[in-house]
Amino acid sequence: MFEDRIKRTEISSIGEFGLIDHLTKSIELKQPSTIYGIGDDAAVINPEGKKVLISSDLLVEGVHFDLTYAPLMHLGYKAAVVNFSDMAAMNVLPTQITVSIGLSNRFSVEAIEELYKGIKLACEHYNVDLVGGDTSSSQSGLILSISVLGLAEEEDVVYRHGAHEGDLLCVSGDLGAAYAGLLVLEREKSEFVANPKMQPQLEGLDYILERQLKPEARVDVVKLLKEIEVKPTAMMDISDGLASEIKHICEQSNVGCSVYENKIPIDQQAWDIARSFNMDPTMLTMNGGEDYELLFTVAQSDFDKIKDVNEIIIIGYMTAASAGQNLITKNNVSVPIKAQGWDSFSKEKDTD
Ligand code: ADP
Ligand code: MG
Repeated sequence: MFEDRIKRTEISSIGEFGLIDHLTKSIELKQPSTIYGIGDDAAVINPEGKKVLISSDLLVEGVHFDLTYAPLMHLGYKAAVVNFSDMAAMNVLPTQITVSIGLSNRFSVEAIEELYKGIKLACEHYNVDLVGGDTSSSQSGLILSISVLGLAEEEDVVYRHGAHEGDLLCVSGDLGAAYAGLLVLEREKSEFVANPKMQPQLEGLDYILERQLKPEARVDVVKLLKEIEVKPTAMMDISDGLASEIKHICEQSNVGCSVYENKIPIDQQAWDIARSFNMDPTMLTMNGGEDYELLFTVAQSDFDKIKDVNEIIIIGYMTAASAGQNLITKNNVSVPIKAQGWDSFSKEKDTD
């Protein structure tokens, strides 16, 4: 068993084609719209008269992820899921992805297998086909780029620019936990660097660690909204923090908003970590990143349909643009929302 774990096959020993074949030979295609997947110069998709949505994400080692604490399988899972989240943010289900990787010779075949295990697991969970990609060597660690396709009727697509004055502002789950998880992982990493004999202190923090390392895309909420016959007027996913995303919806829709601090959902673990880092929990929810919840606006006439749905939390409402974007604090004071984003927490990080 131990030998299995330390087995290391150099990529050069099987070559680029051998690697692609090894990683992709077991892939089964499930989407009826996939006509042809891996194996030719391009994949072939049948949109069946629908609109085609496409989005990409690029992840660079040392910039977007740190392999000291993010296992490769989790990285693969997360890289796929953040793309699925971009489709969910348009009110659309993802159908296909392509995966392009740049690899330095630090990575063995076994390591890339782990990465693909995560990607394939995400594809299975979300019923998405992996239909192609590209493979190259890299001089600077791991580079991972995923593109995602989704098919939808035009009338089902929800943009960021459709919010109106009076609409309700909603989120699909709690916020700040992914950033709380990152704070803990970075703390444990620096303690480990100072003293490699230290055991990481991670007990009781499973929720926030999972939110950081293995996020999920809220395609369930997209399905739910369809079931209850609510089409949001505007929507996006929360990848950079609530404050920054609220600004996008307000600016693109030309409205303002009032958000109630006491309505913003936060998990107890995230709250406790914010406190232990001397941070205001509301700041964590407003400016922490990577929660991948949905932020959306709903017409007031749909209030009865959403008011008893657990997954949907109303945190405020949209106002005239001239009123600005405001947070109504627990003391009932109105303060302008500032998008400090993720950068202000961690100067060396740039996640754009
Ligand atoms: P090309 O020379 O046209 O770039 P490749 O030999 O790189 O073609 O790729 C052969 C097939 O394998 C294509 O269908 C391509 O989409 C797929 N492929 C290449 N790299 C990857 C990868 N990292 N993950 C998934 N599929 C891949
Ligand atoms: Mg290629």
